[in-house]
Amino acid sequence: LFETAPPPWELAAQDDVALASIVFSEAPHGPYDYRIPDSMRDDLVAGMRVKVPLGRRKKPIIGWCTETKQGKAAHRSMRDIAEILDTEPLCDAALVRLVLWMSHYYQAPAGQVFDTLIPSSVRANAGTREKTYLLPSPMAKDDELVGSLPTKQQTALRFLIAAGRPMTSQQLSVVAECTQGPITQLRKKGFVQENVRREMNTPTSTRWQVDDGEVEVAHTLTDDQAQALSQVTGALDSGKGRTLLLHGVTGSGKTEVYIQAIEHVVKFGRGAIVLVPEISLTPQTRGRFERRFQSVAVLHSQMTPAERHFQWQRIRSGEVQVVVGPRSAVFAPMPHLGLIVIDEEHDGSFKQDTQPRYHARRVAYARAMSLNIPLVLGTATPSMESWHATATGRAELIKMPSRVGNRPMPDVQLVDLRVRDDRTAGAISRPLHTAVQQTLNENGQVILLLNRRGFATTIQCPACGYVVACPDCDMPLTHHRDGGKAVCHYCDYTIATPPWCPACRFDGIRYGGLGTQKLEVEVKARFPDAVVARMDSDTMRRPGSHQKVLSAFRAGKVNLLLGTQMIAKGLDFPNVLLVGVINADGALHFPDFRAAERTFQLVTQVAGRTGRGDRGGRVIVQTYSPEHPAIQAASRHDYELFAKGEMINRMKFNYPPLGSVARIIIRGVIEEVTEAIADSLLSRLEVARDTLGAEVRILGPAPPPITKLRGKYRFHLLLQSVDANHLGETIRRATKDFKIADKDDVQYVIDIDPMDM
Ligand code: ADP
Ligand code: ZN
Repeated sequence: LFETAPPPWELAAQDDVALASIVFSEAPHGPYDYRIPDSMRDDLVAGMRVKVPLGRRKKPIIGWCTETKQGKAAHRSMRDIAEILDTEPLCDAALVRLVLWMSHYYQAPAGQVFDTLIPSSVRANAGTREKTYLLPSPMAKDDELVGSLPTKQQTALRFLIAAGRPMTSQQLSVVAECTQGPITQLRKKGFVQENVRREMNTPTSTRWQVDDGEVEVAHTLTDDQAQALSQVTGALDSGKGRTLLLHGVTGSGKTEVYIQAIEHVVKFGRGAIVLVPEISLTPQTRGRFERRFQSVAVLHSQMTPAERHFQWQRIRSGEVQVVVGPRSAVFAPMPHLGLIVIDEEHDGSFKQDTQPRYHARRVAYARAMSLNIPLVLGTATPSMESWHATATGRAELIKMPSRVGNRPMPDVQLVDLRVRDDRTAGAISRPLHTAVQQTLNENGQVILLLNRRGFATTIQCPACGYVVACPDCDMPLTHHRDGGKAVCHYCDYTIATPPWCPACRFDGIRYGGLGTQKLEVEVKARFPDAVVARMDSDTMRRPGSHQKVLSAFRAGKVNLLLGTQMIAKGLDFPNVLLVGVINADGALHFPDFRAAERTFQLVTQVAGRTGRGDRGGRVIVQTYSPEHPAIQAASRHDYELFAKGEMINRMKFNYPPLGSVARIIIRGVIEEVTEAIADSLLSRLEVARDTLGAEVRILGPAPPPITKLRGKYRFHLLLQSVDANHLGETIRRATKDFKIADKDDVQYVIDIDPMDM
């Protein structure tokens, strides 16, 4: 007996065992090797889900297979795959590699990255059902046996044989003109076999209707566009992974360049992915692609699980030429991907703010380079990251400096809110009031931007523009309504909120509490005859409301549209003759090194909503800091001027794009415990850095801008380095075996390349 069954340790040493590498979302590391039982050898492929035992858990858990291989079982306790959950892989080899890269770069469990890549609707087979088909069994070939059957059963069977393909019993009963009875009998007697297939129901509801207000024809390209297109097609034909930054002013016709580049891709039987900010997924954008290509898949957040699954299958089948969608569309399972386009590449929505905290631009870059296809980034206001890439030769710059039809850029007028004579009791200055009135009188439309986002309420003097700031960090203090405290969110410096301006003693300091709702009341009182619509995340909660407001605006039923940054992007309405920015400083005094960049982008983008028709347009920007470089550059439509000054600022502290930043957020229920764990993580980081000899600056732990969220205390550690690898490796080492006791109830999150500080 001993001789025939080798002891387990000998078995372990045996070569040529079929092994599978498995990753999990519950376990941060891996992959872990499992043995593939002989019965499953031909069925398991990378990209499938399996069930396997893990650790001390009683029940097998779901994992993802990243590789199958022949090799030595590493140790005798190696366990077996318990079950294979998929009949086909949910992602191809290239996407599996992308998952592994993302897991490494963003330091997230690979299983969690798989779960992000493959929509839950796909994993759950949403919108499908099992259908049973019938086929004649070998027994049905025996004429004698068949002849002995009752007539109705014989007839039904002969119809099935004659059909030469599987039929449902429903279909068979129709063609054989019989009830289910004879068919059931045939099944029981073994004359027919069953074949169960999972099938997709075609979703009947598509919530978005393309508004057919416009006909899209291929435009004759302007010289700028033709030049840009030839650079993109050149990159396509080179068969190399290349990044192209298409820096085109607002209204320069970037979309037409994307479309014609994609036509080039489609001509060769390949497909393209176009990423757009979710908010720009308007019927207008959608319509432009749908009218120009035969087969388009538009992905958006309001799809039902069944629709999402249906689109995913369509894309994977290779029938779709163009996928248009928000950041997650970067994972679209396009089989012959030829091009990735990111429109408005500077947009903050491309960063995911839950784990894995990926940036779609970074992921698109990795995917494009691994497939040797071009990545086109389009924008009027390039991110500092992409701009820097053109300076260092990692990306090619394409410029489209003028608008289609040589329309002039709109004239931008700055209104200095410190000037007493221009100020009013409300949010709208005298010059802006006059301009709105005039525009309405001329039957023109008006857009007013008030970007009150987030929580930060700055404390600013309306008389002199002074912003109450931290003496140590120079960051604006945040007013906390409860307790009337002003707090620095970098170093925790706290004072009682001053009742008057510390600089000029003006008695009436403001807590920056103006929001769009209050503005709407003011606007309606000032312009009682105008039809006003408000667009912000409060009024846009219901699906379709965005589209409704925009169609009303397009049709001229709304005269004045006010809202948050939602209205700053992509809208193309020729009758908008005036854009007003209520407070350009709102984003400027935000405790974030990207504050100036955001301000420049926002003012430039919203300014770009006007001057798109023959009647021209103008922009009025209200500000307390008209001399600020970001506002100055935006008022002159001069991106390069802005970028140059901003790069010098970033260089001082090696902020991105000159260096890399990472953040670790630690949150817990008990403040002292949370802080203690943050401290111990800090010392681990310092040890890791010093053993690696890495050049990394570690700041904190400090309370982040949001100190308490959903009942949990938060602390954050900031890491900075000129070398992204040093940064990543330091964190990887420090957190590798970092365990937090369950009783402490503290979690931490790693955010590589955070976008909001
Ligand atoms: P951008 O995205 O650069 O702001 P769009 O792609 O929205 O600009 O184009 C602005 C407008 O110009 C759109 O209405 C578009 O249909 C139109 N347009 C684009 N290219 C041309 C062209 N070559 N000739 C005429 N009109 C064009
Ligand atoms: Zn401070």
